[in-house]
Amino acid sequence: MDVPLYLRPRVDPPLASLLGAAPFLHSLVDALGSPLNVLLPEVVAENAHRFRAVYRRHRLAGRVYFAHKANRSSALVRRLSAESPAAVGVDVASLEELRHALSCGFTGDRLMATGPKDPEFLWLAARVGATVNLDSVNELEHLAGLVRKHGLGRVEALVRLSGFESAVGRGGAGIRTLSRRSRFGTPVREAEALMSALERHTDAVELTGVAYHLDTTGLEEKVRALEQCVLFVDECRARGLAPRVVDIGGGFGVGYVADAEEWERWTTALSEAVLGGHPPLTWRGHGYGLRNEGGTVRGTAALYPGHRPTAGAGYLDELLSLPAPVLGRPSATLLLEHLHDLYVEPGRSLVDQCGLSLARVLDVRPTGEDSGQYLVRLGMNAGDVSLEEHGVLVDPVLLPRGGPEEDEEGPVGVFLVGNLCLEADLITRRLVFLPRLPRVGDLLGFVNTAGYAMDFHAHHAQRQPVARTVAVEGRGGTWRWCPDEDYWPITHPGGTSV
Ligand SMILES: *Cc1c(COP(=O)(O)O)cnc(C)c1O
Repeated sequence: MDVPLYLRPRVDPPLASLLGAAPFLHSLVDALGSPLNVLLPEVVAENAHRFRAVYRRHRLAGRVYFAHKANRSSALVRRLSAESPAAVGVDVASLEELRHALSCGFTGDRLMATGPKDPEFLWLAARVGATVNLDSVNELEHLAGLVRKHGLGRVEALVRLSGFESAVGRGGAGIRTLSRRSRFGTPVREAEALMSALERHTDAVELTGVAYHLDTTGLEEKVRALEQCVLFVDECRARGLAPRVVDIGGGFGVGYVADAEEWERWTTALSEAVLGGHPPLTWRGHGYGLRNEGGTVRGTAALYPGHRPTAGAGYLDELLSLPAPVLGRPSATLLLEHLHDLYVEPGRSLVDQCGLSLARVLDVRPTGEDSGQYLVRLGMNAGDVSLEEHGVLVDPVLLPRGGPEEDEEGPVGVFLVGNLCLEADLITRRLVFLPRLPRVGDLLGFVNTAGYAMDFHAHHAQRQPVARTVAVEGRGGTWRWCPDEDYWPITHPGGTSV
């Protein structure tokens, strides 16, 4: 028997008490099928309050925009629309997300249009008075053209910058690009052309601020970008434009694994396994990007940092407290001194602890290699819980159907496989340790899947069912539910007015 290497999930209340209500979860899956997504709309509001508390602590004004792309749910967006209009908005990245947010109660002035934009998306965003987060000079010209041609009002816009660089190094070290390359945004070195384009189009497009979104966990890189945005806003003001916002995007992160030691132990064991000094931890020796080159581990593990000491609102707090590299004062102080509002666009972190994905155990059998390991087939596929797709490694929670059995054995290593007729349909390529062997009919609960994992990659291959999504709330010791599309923030799920 392998020594169990757990990666047990971080589970806060109320998600923890929902997991304690196994009979309720079983009855939901009996009625609605496997897989099933379960959401806790109250938690998204609590997360927004945590971000707002950080704003208050640093005496900053501005909005928290939920990055809608993290989850398709209506319940989450409707719950957020009930929050203070001055405090919470939505970042929409497609025409359909824009239409959805409007239908959930957001007025246009609480919306931000980001991402690649087709003409219909740009037109509707401009029509309803959304802020347009502009990617390039081309997009600015396109928008200005639409505004003039269709007689739309002047559109408020941010410009997204990328390719932030450090100042010219001393001693002839030259310019070093410090932020990772992005397909999105206008490189800082093209800022001059951007500013003249903004000046040309002031009749149609009003520059209200400057934005970045860096897909990294690196605080230093973000502080540097923030400072350069503050300086760019100053330059724009000096040229007669009137921006007042710095938008620092999303990427505040989520801690998935509860215990730092479990995370350390697992990642260390992965390196050892790649070198052959530890029994394989993964299906057919998959290395998550690591490889053995002559006895040395090479490559970088394509893994999300499963255990995070600070994430979400706490990460924003840290970012705002760090001194800016050139001006030397904390980022929050810089924003205050320059009279800038702060926008953030959290996706993953705003839906932290907001939901779980349930799957029925359909089949359990030994891998047949005399290893003591098992294949556990679930009523879901890799598209229904795309944790692996995002490099997020965390154990599911076993929710037994009945009580414990006499002959129950201890921890066991299993590979979780999906319901597609496809060798590659592995829900985990990693050996997952469970406290005991699951039985057919048990449920596995993948917790904290509301950010990108529960519906981002779901598909209709083989006509397998995609998960239904329900909103739930626990009150007075009982859990109630309703379909996601029937949730409105004026009634508790399952009846009674709020
Ligand atoms: C995806 C995205 C976000 C959200 O990122 P998270 O990592 O989920 O917080 C915010 N802004 C933009 C522009 C994005 O593309």
